[in-house]
Amino acid sequence: MAETISKELLEVIACPKCKGEVELSPKGDGLICKRCRLVYEIREGIPIMLIDEAISLEKYQARDGY
Ligand SMILES: [Zn+2]
Repeated sequence: MAETISKELLEVIACPKCKGEVELSPKGDGLICKRCRLVYEIREGIPIMLIDEAISLEKYQARDGY
């Protein structure tokens, strides 16, 4: 799964919770809001920017075995 989103898109996307910046995860499969410690998953190239769908940063990291 190498689908990533463009830098341009990333720049206009904000965390729906705090309206802050999000950053692409190292694997490119999610957008991380460090302030909220939430990860918004990217599915089929589309970031799911929904608070209800977000997973905690801890859970995300545990799942990916960081
Ligand atoms: Zn946030």
